[in-house]
Amino acid sequence: MAVHHLTYRILAGMIAGIVAGMLLKLAMPMLPALKPYLVDGLLFVVGQVFVASLKMLVVPLILVSLICGVNALRDVSALGRIGLRALGWYLLTTAMAITIGLALASWLQPGVGVAIGGHSFDVSTAPSLTQVLINLFPSNPFAALSDGNTLQVIVFALLFGVAMVMSGEAGQRLAAWFEDANSVVLKLVMLLMHLAPYGVFALMARLFFEQEFSLILQLAGYFAVVLVALVAHLLVSYGLLLRAHGLSPLLFLYKMREVVLFAFTTASSNATIPVTLDATVRKLGVDRSIASFTVPLGATVNMDGTAIMQGVATVFIAQMYQIDLSMTQFLMIIATATLASIGTAGVPGVGLVMLTLVLQQVGLPVEAIGLIIGVDRLLDMSRTAVNVCGDAMVSMIIGRAEGRLDTTVFADRNAGTND
Ligand code: ASP
Repeated sequence: MAVHHLTYRILAGMIAGIVAGMLLKLAMPMLPALKPYLVDGLLFVVGQVFVASLKMLVVPLILVSLICGVNALRDVSALGRIGLRALGWYLLTTAMAITIGLALASWLQPGVGVAIGGHSFDVSTAPSLTQVLINLFPSNPFAALSDGNTLQVIVFALLFGVAMVMSGEAGQRLAAWFEDANSVVLKLVMLLMHLAPYGVFALMARLFFEQEFSLILQLAGYFAVVLVALVAHLLVSYGLLLRAHGLSPLLFLYKMREVVLFAFTTASSNATIPVTLDATVRKLGVDRSIASFTVPLGATVNMDGTAIMQGVATVFIAQMYQIDLSMTQFLMIIATATLASIGTAGVPGVGLVMLTLVLQQVGLPVEAIGLIIGVDRLLDMSRTAVNVCGDAMVSMIIGRAEGRLDTTVFADRNAGTND
């Protein structure tokens, strides 16, 4: 029991936060001062400090660990292969995810009979796909680092690492420095993880205080279909893929529990990168040279849970407006949502913004997003948990294919526990 101490403390923080948030909501009419001082004061500050300190680690961690990863790999030509494999798997799993979402929504018909109502949604925020591609390359790496632009940091770190490997002695002197920096950043990750129970408590308490539960009841069908599709993808798609590679899906899920809690409470794949990377290396047994590349890349481009929501939401909105979608439109949704998920940053709520691309592509009214936005935070949390599991799973598959997966680490239930 003792070795799992931290996981249980985080879980306890989450459950206590949910209960506290609901109790505060009930107590509000009698004690209105609770909102400004406790909910928007203390809880808000603690929650934001927690998320900010996770995000604080993302850029240094990606930069340092990816440079060390490329250096450890040594074989520069392997990088292209790993990158292509990772992208291939990410695209494939996302397409599988959206297909499950579309199939379940078409079968269970959550949108039939739902009142349309006058909603509005600002469409101006979704970037174009060409811009997404151009934006991969930083014109100024320091700007990329200071803006926390994950993809640009990945591209810069990869190129820097490759050049370092090719620079002989000078490169190796620098590599030793980066190795030391890597150990220090990892220590910082460990230290901050021990503060997680308090941060998670504050985030959950405020969220459940603010959440309008009547909205969830109104959209219960949509809400339930997204959740069912998320669980189906997690258990069936990931289960089959892991099994096909000789890996136990149950053990995988067991080892991902802490990462899932972080992703669920922060609703951000990006903020969860330090925890996902740590678990992928120390618990799942993927070599750091692979994981330091595939995990940040996945957190930025691989959004299976988001694609599921986009598939279900599109069918839901079509059903609500009594529009029949043709087979071509279904295929278009799969293609657009898969590409849109690449452009979705791993931060809260962006999946909904990118849904505009999909709706516009098939000619559905974008303002319908205004209806589902009210229940999106809880779904965002759930889909982010699936997003990060997808990143870790693909990392395992690639580690396996490259001969860089330590199966003894994976088989050890207690490997990498943080206490
Ligand atoms: N919050 C999601 C993530 O960070 C993205 C989204 O679906 O909005 O993975």
